[in-house]
Amino acid sequence: MARYKDASCRLCRREGAKLYLKGDRCYSEKCAFGRKGYPPGAHGQGRQKISEYGMQLREKQKARRIYGVLERQFKRYFEEADRRKGITGEILLQILESRLDNIIYRMGLARSRTDARQLIRHGHYLVNGRKVNIPSYLTRPGDLVAVREKSKNSPFFKELAEWGAAQGTVNWLEVDRDNMSGKVIRVPSREELDVPISEHLIVELYSR
Ligand code: SF4
Repeated sequence: MARYKDASCRLCRREGAKLYLKGDRCYSEKCAFGRKGYPPGAHGQGRQKISEYGMQLREKQKARRIYGVLERQFKRYFEEADRRKGITGEILLQILESRLDNIIYRMGLARSRTDARQLIRHGHYLVNGRKVNIPSYLTRPGDLVAVREKSKNSPFFKELAEWGAAQGTVNWLEVDRDNMSGKVIRVPSREELDVPISEHLIVELYSR
């Protein structure tokens, strides 16, 4: 499967926002965005005039990069959001948030969405008691997510459990830190999502 393999920090600098793609590093002084908060490249520090289309495009790219979704899949999510009744931009974010890699990250069962994707592919998590190794798996309210019993005993997951214990949680998910598991309580509202995305720009882009 195609994946973005270039330096993650370039993406934050490109989008002009911290996208939290590298776990602990993002919260440390090593964060490249803190040191060089301008776009990469020779003209990164020059004055940049951006068109309306450019702004819409950047917003879409930012959303794709935060959630680690490729172009074609992102378009499919948008089409699905557009089909459903309600506010398209909000539904789009709700679909993205329901991805298994995001849910695992939000539950503190992985340090970043990128880490979550890799760990899911290696088969470390269960959904409703069954192994799921597809990061894009869309969870639903009521779904139970857990680290596989065998994985829990590994030094890596023991350390992760300690790290997870210090993390906060969101109120649309229920997390059982002792058992390294959690439950999707409900679909979050837009106000509950802390992502720095202006989703209306993405809707405008696809409506051109
Ligand atoms: Fe972005 Fe994290 Fe790199 Fe900082 S450390 S630039 S937040 S990926």
